Amino acid sequence: MGKPGAYLSVKRQVGGYRPVEERINDYSEVEIQLSEEDRMAQASRCMDCGVPFCHWACPIANFMPEWQDRLYRGDWVGAWAVLQDTTPFPEFTGRVCPALCEASCVLGANDDPVTIRQNELAVIEKAFNLGLVVPQPPRKRNGKKVAVVGAGPAGLAAAWYLNRAGFSVTVYEGDRKVGGYLRYGIPDFKLDKNFIDRRVTIMEAEGVNFKTRTRIGQAPYAFGTRGMDSEVVDPKVLETSFDLVLLTIGARDARDLKAPGRELSGIVQALDFLSQQNRILGGEHDEGIAPITAYGKRVLVIGGGDTGSDCVGTANRQGAKKVTQIELLPKPPEHRPDSAPWPLWPTVLKTSSSHQEGGERLWSINTKEFRGAAGTLGSVLACRVDWKMENRRWAMEEIPGTELEIPADLVLLAMGFTHVVQGGAVAGLELETDERGNIKTRGTFHTSNPKVWAAGDAKNGASLVVRAMAEGRAAAEAIISTL
Ligand SMILES: Cc1cc2nc3c(=O)[nH]c(=O)nc-3n(C[C@H](O)[C@H](O)[C@H](O)COP(=O)(O)OP(=O)(O)OC[C@H]3O[C@@H](n4cnc5c(N)ncnc54)[C@H](O)[C@@H]3O)c2cc1C
Repeated sequence: MGKPGAYLSVKRQVGGYRPVEERINDYSEVEIQLSEEDRMAQASRCMDCGVPFCHWACPIANFMPEWQDRLYRGDWVGAWAVLQDTTPFPEFTGRVCPALCEASCVLGANDDPVTIRQNELAVIEKAFNLGLVVPQPPRKRNGKKVAVVGAGPAGLAAAWYLNRAGFSVTVYEGDRKVGGYLRYGIPDFKLDKNFIDRRVTIMEAEGVNFKTRTRIGQAPYAFGTRGMDSEVVDPKVLETSFDLVLLTIGARDARDLKAPGRELSGIVQALDFLSQQNRILGGEHDEGIAPITAYGKRVLVIGGGDTGSDCVGTANRQGAKKVTQIELLPKPPEHRPDSAPWPLWPTVLKTSSSHQEGGERLWSINTKEFRGAAGTLGSVLACRVDWKMENRRWAMEEIPGTELEIPADLVLLAMGFTHVVQGGAVAGLELETDERGNIKTRGTFHTSNPKVWAAGDAKNGASLVVRAMAEGRAAAEAIISTL
């Protein structure tokens, strides 16, 4: 276990962020890492609890106490060995995971939890620096062929495990590069895309065959794919050429806001905005497509979640004149509410690095109308709302006389995603969808088509990187034991 009693003397210490005035001028990662000594001291705070709720809360079930112990002792190699037993890509979750584990850390019941996420990142980066993370191709192939459609974290995780188990894996990706929302959603200041490339290079060396710019099925392609120039392949071809097809195509049908004036220019989906910035930084140029820029504009972000926060950070970096973020729901509490006692995940007010960089946040605000002149947006009419419990359901009510007009030249719609993009691969493979519009599965990952399985956001709806990775791993394990 960690150092007995260390939690009494060693306080939680996080790396923090680079100064706002520095980081706002670039797109490099904002988070600072602690020294190795400080990191080991942080790991010493782990109490090796009888019931490790951190492990219970982690979707991919990492063995937190075991690798904290090794880290505390300076056994970085051992810590990495334990970590990589359960997770394929700790360098992604170490950077962007909301750390469900930390909300369930027993120390967090009456003190500050162990810095598990940052410890994870330190361990995997040290492993890369020590040259431990090298290609390990399977000794022999088993003659089975699997097509993975979609190279987000779910597809990458599935491909990682299947390939190592000896399957011949081809990953079809409609976009230009691999990564899904890791690459074309999450901004570079949270996740540098070189870390995706580093992992993909290893996977290629191990024998995974990536076919990018190859879209399976002719779907009304989802957001974040402006300038897509992919080849379209009939999904039926995959069905006949592979032993199994695993769909990991994400939940990319973005929610829209059908208020009057929606047709005005200057109202765009958050993902069109975010992915464009990531593409520019990645050296991709979408010729012939009008750029969306926040430079010099009054920007209104509609949606108070993580995507909205990423829009705030990106708009500020692009030189927005003013950034306002509005949310329909009430302001969350600052501390864990009684309705979500430890060790449950609490919905509390989150102030991200992007929020620290500037902008105003408003809660309980409903959008009523987009206003403008000559086809161009000029402002948004909104009002304050009250939330009441009626028949055991929350109901929203406009508060009379609270209308406000927010000046805006650019509105970014960041209201989440409804479900998988239907049509295309889903229709082409004749898959049933569930009541929420995602790919319907029976038992674990089987869809209504016996040769097609589904995993990740495409099956569960929009969620988290760690859940997508966990699904990819579990789907691979199920395929390994079935085929
Ligand atoms: C802006 C933004 C920020 C986020 N920030 C975080 C965060 O900080 N932390 C966190 O944990 N989660 C975050 N998320 C959520 C997280 O990124 C997703 O839950 C996760 O990426 C889902 O993984 P996936 O593999 O299921 O799907 P995706 O990542 O959506 O990948 C699906 C892939 O399939 C491809 N595809 C789709 N259809 C086809 C087709 N027909 N043929 C070929 N390819 C196809 C797509 O191009 C894409 O590459 C964020 C999401 C967004 C949008």
